[in-house]
Amino acid sequence: MADRTFLDWPFFEDRHRELAAALEAWCAANLPVDHGDVDAACIGLVRALGAAGFLAHSGGDALDVRSLCLIRETLARHDWLADFAFAMQGLGMGAVSLFGSAEQRAWLDRTRTGAALSAFALSEPKSGSDVANLETTARAEGNGFVLDGEKTWISNGGIADVYTVFARTGEAPGAKGLSAFLVPADTPGLEIAERLEVIAPHPLARLRFDGMRLPGSALIGEAGAGFRIAMSVLDVFRSTVGAAALGFARRALEESLARVRQRELFGAPLSELQMVQGHIADMALGVDASALLIYRAAWTKDRGAARVSREAAMAKLHATETAQQVIDAAVQLHGGDGVRSGHIVESLYREIRALRIYEGASDVQKVVIARQALAG
Ligand SMILES: Cc1cc2nc3c(=O)[nH]c(=O)nc-3n(C[C@H](O)[C@H](O)[C@H](O)COP(=O)(O)OP(=O)(O)OC[C@H]3O[C@@H](n4cnc5c(N)ncnc54)[C@H](O)[C@@H]3O)c2cc1C
Repeated sequence: MADRTFLDWPFFEDRHRELAAALEAWCAANLPVDHGDVDAACIGLVRALGAAGFLAHSGGDALDVRSLCLIRETLARHDWLADFAFAMQGLGMGAVSLFGSAEQRAWLDRTRTGAALSAFALSEPKSGSDVANLETTARAEGNGFVLDGEKTWISNGGIADVYTVFARTGEAPGAKGLSAFLVPADTPGLEIAERLEVIAPHPLARLRFDGMRLPGSALIGEAGAGFRIAMSVLDVFRSTVGAAALGFARRALEESLARVRQRELFGAPLSELQMVQGHIADMALGVDASALLIYRAAWTKDRGAARVSREAAMAKLHATETAQQVIDAAVQLHGGDGVRSGHIVESLYREIRALRIYEGASDVQKVVIARQALAG
C-alpha cells in the first residue's frame, strides 16, 4: 500500500481526503483495465470514470487543482491509461471551463459525465515549444471562420468528440494574434490525417483542417486571446502532469519495496544491502519532495492566485525528472525482470518519458523558473 500520510498535510481539506479514499476504493475494484486496444480502453475508462462521478472534477465553473492532482496521482499509480483518460477530459475542456460561453459549456455536461471525449489541439509540426509561431489560420468570413492547417501529437486525436483548437486570427503578430475555437469532431473539413505510434501506446493523431468552416459561436473567449487562454489552461494542468508522474514514482517505489523485501541474495533479503537502502532512500525522498511541490502549486492556485507559473513549472519539472530517476532505480532493483516486456516497472519506464516533453519540456520549465527568479 502506497504511503497516504501526505493526505494529512495542511494543503488538504476533509473533502480531499474523502475523494482520495473513494477513488482508491474504486481503483482497487476497477483497475487496471486491458490495454490491448488503447482506443477502446480509453473510451471505456471515460465512460466508467463518468459513471462513478469522478469526471465531475475534470471541468466546470470551479476547477479545484488539488482534486485534479489527487485524482491524477491515484489513477496513475493504478493504471496510466486511466490517468490519461481522466486528464484529457480536463485538458480538452480547460479553455471552455475557464472562458467558455453558455452554449459551449453545454459540452461540459457531456465530458463531465463521460458521454463525450475531448482533446486539446495546440501543437503543430513546426511549433511545439514555440507556440506563438503556430501557423494554422482562422480567417474571418461572414459571421464565422475558415480554418486551414495542421495539428500534431494530439492526444485523443481520432477518438475525441470535441477539440479545442488554437489558430492564428492575426489581430497582431506572434502570440497576440491567436484565438481558441471549440470544434465538434464531425465538423466537415476536419480530417484525422495520421494516427501516431509512440513508445507507450496512447490514442494520438495528426489533424488536418482543410477549409473547415466554423460559426462565430465556436470562438472561445475573445479573438486574439488564444495565447493567454492556452497559457491559463496550462497553468492549471501543468501541476497535474507532475501529479501523474508522482503516481508513477509512488508505484515504482511500492513495487521496489516489495521486491527488495522478498528477494534473497547472498543469504539475506536484498533490502539489507546498504547500497540498496541508498536507492530506496533517494526514491522516497524524491517522491516526498515532488508531492510537496505539486500540492503547494495546487493549493496556491486554489487559494485564488491569478497565475502560478513558477510554482507549476517547479512542480512539473521536479516531479517528472524525479519520477524518471525513481523508475530507473526501480528497474535496476528488479534486475532482469525490470526490463522484461510487460513487467510493471518496464511499462512505467516507457510511460514516464513523454511527461518530460509535453505541456512544456523540462528545458522550457527551467526557462520559466529562471525568468521569474531573475525578475526578482
Ligand atoms: C505523448 C505526447 C502527447 C502529446 N499530447 C499533446 C496534446 O494533447 N495536445 C497538444 O497540443 N500537444 C501535445 N503534445 C505535443 C507536445 O506538447 C510537444 O511535443 C512539446 O511541446 C514539444 O514540442 P516539439 O515536439 O515540437 O519539440 P520542440 O519544440 O522541437 O522542442 C524539442 C526540444 O528542444 C528543447 N527546447 C525547446 N524549447 C526550448 C527552450 N525555450 N529552451 C531550451 N530548450 C528548449 C527541449 O529539450 C525540447 O524537448 C504531445 C506530445 C507527446 C510526445
